[in-house]
Amino acid sequence: MKAYTTTLIDHGTILTMDKKRRVLENGAVLIEGNRIAAVGKSDDVKKGIKADRLLDAKGKIVLPGLINGHDHADQTLYRTMAHDLQFAIWDMRYMFQTSRYAEEKDFYYAGLVTYSELLKSGVTTSVTSHYYHKSWRNFDNLARSAEDLGIRTCLGFGILDQAPYEEAETNSKKSLLEFENAYKKWNGKDSGRISVWVSPAGFGNTSDEGLIGSVAIAKRYKARLTIHVAATWTAANDPPWKVLKREVEHLRDLGVMSPNTLAAHSVWLNEEDLQIFKETGTSVAHNPVSNMYLAFGVAPVSRMTRIGIPVSLGTDGIGSNTHDMFEVMRAAAYLQKIHTMDTMSIDSQKILEMATIEGASAIGLEKEIGSIEEGKKADVIVVNANKIHMTPYKNPVPALVYCAKSSDVETVVVDGKIVVEGGVLKAMDEEKLIEDSQADIRAFWERGKFN
Ligand SMILES: [Zn+2]
Repeated sequence: MKAYTTTLIDHGTILTMDKKRRVLENGAVLIEGNRIAAVGKSDDVKKGIKADRLLDAKGKIVLPGLINGHDHADQTLYRTMAHDLQFAIWDMRYMFQTSRYAEEKDFYYAGLVTYSELLKSGVTTSVTSHYYHKSWRNFDNLARSAEDLGIRTCLGFGILDQAPYEEAETNSKKSLLEFENAYKKWNGKDSGRISVWVSPAGFGNTSDEGLIGSVAIAKRYKARLTIHVAATWTAANDPPWKVLKREVEHLRDLGVMSPNTLAAHSVWLNEEDLQIFKETGTSVAHNPVSNMYLAFGVAPVSRMTRIGIPVSLGTDGIGSNTHDMFEVMRAAAYLQKIHTMDTMSIDSQKILEMATIEGASAIGLEKEIGSIEEGKKADVIVVNANKIHMTPYKNPVPALVYCAKSSDVETVVVDGKIVVEGGVLKAMDEEKLIEDSQADIRAFWERGKFN
């Protein structure tokens, strides 16, 4: 990839998502190295500068790169294999029992496919939870795919040890030790583009010992923690494990709920649970498409945002069958509106905040990314609004949330580098990537005799 020192994105409609949520018509963004050097009206930004590279954004919308709060990049190994099944069957038969047939290199290809799809839909940062550690090199291969494509990732090293999952997994003690290998090798790599988090799977899937160990190791390494919380009705309301409390209470008592924690799903929360989120400063990754697909339920997102719980949006794994953040934004809005029977329960401005600056807060990176402001890391996307389905538009925010498609994403800049240009990946040849990944993943299906 050729590196440019300075890039000027000029003549665009700039959605800064800064504190004042400024929208600049005929605006420009100047990128120097991996940082945003200036943002403002075109004439002001251009005064006295000569950029190495010029991107004309006339008729286009320029906004911060989208943030995906929750994915399982490896689950792309199972795309279209296990659809329209009960969650328990889908989860056990396909996600865990079949994982034993996956080889180290398969995780590289799964990562390439997932992160390519995310980048092409405008996602510049993704939080991945990864659980399959027969060899910690599975994690290593996933990290390598993110490194090669140039996406910003927070890679959660999974801790999962409860029956019946131990078949596909190792015990939490071993995983916690192996976390160190992953952390030492990958955390902070590529100017901090890759960071390593701790990712206990969740209450019921990770023992109390594993949960306590996860919190301790996160503290020791100053790593962030992400975990599934209250995804299904049964786990939240009628836990089969040996506790007499609700799931969220139990997690709070073990020290899991904290400002350092990102709780994925968080569907089945009552008012007391919501107050625990608020009091402990825990953030949420809301996965509306996945929650609908797996019939989990509807997370009380409009209530969360009203009481000030930071919420990010997530694609989840291929359980939701898409890594398209535009689809996720739209679904998040529709789901709250129909669930509350109130069109005003959430608006497009809030949805875009969840996908950008509020998403950055939810993952603890609001000082670095999530808005277009001088000094921040240069994670910026350009969406081509010269499309029939966006004609005409008065306000760019609802135009993006309700009308745009991921295929309208034209340019993606991560850490100052252009990684998607003209809607095409820069780091590798897409046709070859599709061909090689298909061949590798089909060979995995053959080994496992998955029909
Ligand atoms: Zn998940």
